[in-house]
Amino acid sequence: MQHSIQSLFFSTFAFVLGAAVGSFLNVCIYRWPADLSINRPRRSFCPQCKQPIPWHHNLPLISWLALGGRCAHCGAKISFRYFAVELVTAALFFAIWQRFPWQVAIAYWIFVSFLIIGTFIDFEHFIIPDRVTIGGTIAGVVCSVVVPALMQTNSRLAAGIRAGLAAALGYVILWIVLEAGKIAFGRKRIEFDAPVKRADAWLLDLGDVREAARVSLNGREVGHAWSLPFALRLPALRTKGNVLEIEVTNLPANRIRDLDLRKVDWKVMKEINLVDLRYKPFDASGWPVAPSGLLGPVRLVPLEVVRPR
Ligand SMILES: [Zn+2]
Repeated sequence: MQHSIQSLFFSTFAFVLGAAVGSFLNVCIYRWPADLSINRPRRSFCPQCKQPIPWHHNLPLISWLALGGRCAHCGAKISFRYFAVELVTAALFFAIWQRFPWQVAIAYWIFVSFLIIGTFIDFEHFIIPDRVTIGGTIAGVVCSVVVPALMQTNSRLAAGIRAGLAAALGYVILWIVLEAGKIAFGRKRIEFDAPVKRADAWLLDLGDVREAARVSLNGREVGHAWSLPFALRLPALRTKGNVLEIEVTNLPANRIRDLDLRKVDWKVMKEINLVDLRYKPFDASGWPVAPSGLLGPVRLVPLEVVRPR
């Protein structure tokens, strides 16, 4: 009896702690990609009206339900994500607590927290910040040394070595995925430091693009370049480590040509069949291959504010 009450208490604690941690993870998910500080402002604020949220409207899980997913001040919809992250974190903290001894459970709590932040940032921005990947790797190695049981050993040294090797393996796998992804999705990712030369602003000139490009800088969308000139004005650059992402879509001419070359039956119309100008069955297999993707050259052009006299 004594035992079951105790275990019920700790399980409930794990769930409530998970919900509270989930609430903090929401802050990281919102602020990390935007490069905002985690502790300034200290108070959470409404993403719409920027009004600070009082603590009694910021209770994990409960407040979102009680306020019907809306800001109490301006009535703006608060994304379901806030509730989902708190619930997922609470459920995972609870499940981990049930399954593992407490030292291991605490290490896994840290681990899933990183995974949740990475997952939800990835959903929204298609990036996983270095704080998640590199921070998580460092945390993993440190946790393994502190809790060697994570690596199925009693020796801290052996645990540290195994964790280091595992981290290296993870790096190699990610590198392969990244390179394969570039080939498969036509998404270019470039890291660069701000030029030493001073400028009032910078223009990103993509040169020749077939046919449209979506550009993000440091996780934030800059805009779409969809006609000549393929150039966008960039927001302020960081001194070091800017991440530029360019996603290019093509007109589907090459795709249609390929389908027709392989005699794929894609022209399935309900009313009429696809024909060419002479009312003959449409066939793209004779088309030449069209230029496609980001042809460049990509340049950063310094801009200067001109003050008329
Ligand atoms: Zn609001």
